[in-house]
Amino acid sequence: MLVPSFEMHVAKSVEDAIKLRSEFGDDSSFYAGGTELLLVMKLGLTDLAHLIDIKHVEELSSISIDESGVRIGAAVTYREIENNPILKSDHPEFVQMISGVANLRVRSVGTLGGNLAFADPASDPATFLLAVKGELEIGSVNGKRRLVPMAGFQTGPYQPDLAENEMIVSIRLPRNLAGGIVVHERMKLKERPNITVAVFAAVANDKVTEARVAIGSIGLVPICIPEVNKSLEGASRATLSERLRQAAEIASTEITLFDDANGSVDYKRHLVKHFVEKVARRAIEAVLLN
Ligand SMILES: Cc1cc2nc3c(=O)[nH]c(=O)nc-3n(C[C@H](O)[C@H](O)[C@H](O)COP(=O)(O)OP(=O)(O)OC[C@H]3O[C@@H](n4cnc5c(N)ncnc54)[C@H](O)[C@@H]3O)c2cc1C
Repeated sequence: MLVPSFEMHVAKSVEDAIKLRSEFGDDSSFYAGGTELLLVMKLGLTDLAHLIDIKHVEELSSISIDESGVRIGAAVTYREIENNPILKSDHPEFVQMISGVANLRVRSVGTLGGNLAFADPASDPATFLLAVKGELEIGSVNGKRRLVPMAGFQTGPYQPDLAENEMIVSIRLPRNLAGGIVVHERMKLKERPNITVAVFAAVANDKVTEARVAIGSIGLVPICIPEVNKSLEGASRATLSERLRQAAEIASTEITLFDDANGSVDYKRHLVKHFVEKVARRAIEAVLLN
């Protein structure tokens, strides 16, 4: 299959990229690593006359840290994240999660912004960012910027909360995880994950003070179910096993699932139950038993 012909425009800045997108409208798309976009074009699912290359925009290609946290430009590749010394020391769990995305070929060109903008339900980073309360910086016309939480950004499969002339400029991770830790696990039978679960847990006075369980790659969008988190808060060593069972039960009944090539609803409920209990146990025990 050949990619239909198109014209490539190299954006020099965020404003330039948004201007080009506004000018060409529906007949254009941002082009980052191209790992999803070119596939979609090869399959004939979209026919675009103009691609806007955003990889050479400096603001989109840098990683920095300030008092509020880590800022990762949307066009930073997975490989650059894996090799970044600040992220390796400050956010080892994030780097570990990124190292498990796809394969080396995809990670060498694929970008974090491209993953989130494509809004595939099977996304490791979207699940992780939900658990740590990550945020996205969105740029639009006239230099406008808004910061939005990861929660709510994916409104449906392949549906990011982005207007036509908006783009993801950066992804923000909280600087430190407020004394807690995050554990991310996935199960993959083919190329993309069948389930991803990320759990943030914090403890004080031998009790869980905060728990956030994000479940992705199995439902329509990655989600956090408030009742699941509540059922873990206040857990102690003595009550942990019972609370974990409750949390897993609630997650597996509350989540909306569907039959598809990856399995039946019953099978998926079983996966949710198993992974929520397992990953939440790993996260909570790491902070509770230390
Ligand atoms: C073989 C394979 C295995 C994979 N396995 C995994 C996996 O295990 N886990 C996982 O999470 N993902 C997986 N993926 C998905 C992978 O993470 C994405 O393909 C990649 O991150 C997309 O980034 P990109 O830069 O190539 O995006 P592109 O293909 O360049 O763009 C994708 C879409 O996003 C838009 N876009 C890109 N950047 C922006 C921006 N800054 N603002 C607004 N819109 C933008 C583009 O216009 C396009 O519509 C896999 C993909 C492949 C091909």
